[in-house]
Amino acid sequence: MQKLEERPKVKIGLEIHVPINSRQKLFCDCPTNYYEVEEPNINTCPVCTGMPGAKPFPINEYALESAVMIAKLLNCKIVNVKAFVKRKHYNYPDLPSGYQRTSDPIGTDGELSGIGIWEVHLEEDPGRYDLVTGRVDYNRSGVPLVEIVTAPDMKSPEDVRNFLKELMNLLRYTGRIIEVGGVMRADVNISLESGARVEIKNINSVKGAYKAIKYEIMRQINLRKRGGVIRQETRGYNEKSMITTAMRIKETTDDYRYIPDPDIPPLVLEKSFIEGIGLPETPQNRKKRLIERYKIPEKYAQILVREKELADLFEDVAPNTDPKIAADWICREVLRQLNYRGIDLKESKLNSKILIEVLKLIRDKKITETTGKKILERIIDSGESPIDIVEKETLGRISKEDELSMIVDDVISENPEAVQDYESGKKRALNFLMGQVMRKMNGRADAEVVIRLLMEKLG
Ligand SMILES: [Zn+2]
Repeated sequence: MQKLEERPKVKIGLEIHVPINSRQKLFCDCPTNYYEVEEPNINTCPVCTGMPGAKPFPINEYALESAVMIAKLLNCKIVNVKAFVKRKHYNYPDLPSGYQRTSDPIGTDGELSGIGIWEVHLEEDPGRYDLVTGRVDYNRSGVPLVEIVTAPDMKSPEDVRNFLKELMNLLRYTGRIIEVGGVMRADVNISLESGARVEIKNINSVKGAYKAIKYEIMRQINLRKRGGVIRQETRGYNEKSMITTAMRIKETTDDYRYIPDPDIPPLVLEKSFIEGIGLPETPQNRKKRLIERYKIPEKYAQILVREKELADLFEDVAPNTDPKIAADWICREVLRQLNYRGIDLKESKLNSKILIEVLKLIRDKKITETTGKKILERIIDSGESPIDIVEKETLGRISKEDELSMIVDDVISENPEAVQDYESGKKRALNFLMGQVMRKMNGRADAEVVIRLLMEKLG
């Protein structure tokens, strides 16, 4: 038997950039909502467009506070020395000043679920440059980003997926990040055993990170098989074609010519400032609270807090129904439907109002659980009101059956001879009785239901 080829060991580290939801930019008071603004270059001023002589405002305190909060949640040591804001130089049309302002670490030496966090710092987002049209939009220029740099502790695309999911969920709990899809950006460093470090840029989803890393590992393995050498380089990930392509040979730190920004005094994080920043409820704390308050099983609480939106949905629904049933439905039925479609709760049409309606319809015995599941399957895509559906369709059918039952009773009492015939074994009598029901119903009765009802009632 051929021996299975051994896979080389892989080390993966991440640099994750997430925008802070402050109203103003990091060093000026322009609005930060670039993701919902159509017109280019309207959220701009001389500072964030790098005009000569424009002086930055003092650093946005909310953004600084948010970075400290995130660093604390990631179990970092908060720096107690002066932190400089530095200029990182490079030339690209998205950067009008020719440098990006980026802070020294705010927190260092943290950890999340066994993955080391090297540092957390703040920086300015560059503008947006459209390679196709050649147009530049500076609405995003200067928006505060928190950057989280991990140790190369991840060993597979699955590790990265799990870590990113957990990290993004934790960040959502802070309420400090911009939640619009695609605003998270990650750079991935991959090195195969005894190979050079390759950086992949422009990944902007958890799914994208997983696919890019899978592709890149295979590319490097295949390159080696053909006798090629893995160079230290920066590659771009193309979300559409799902491949990575060479961008440039990797810059070194020296290439960026970092210098402290002479316009910005170094940050000093006072002890009272750091201690004054309250931490939000973490997923782990919420899990405990859900178990205590709603008496739901631990396994459900664990599933719920793993995605903040699911736990939010549960806490909206639980007080209006039986919390255990609500947890059961969300963790089983709702998740099954979402996973089948490969979407998040946010991407579906389901909301707490709809789920409460479904669970109440079941509780009040207006519909069966099976019907409830079928309704859920439909409203996840359509967002229709379950009560409307039941009134228009399902309930209609049930009341029709009640109606049929009454007609069947009438026919039985009006035709004693036929009933006697049937009871003495003349099966054809059943057809006669059914004909009588059909006549009364103008032929609209469901024949199958009528026969079932007749046989039930005649025993
Ligand atoms: Zn500005």
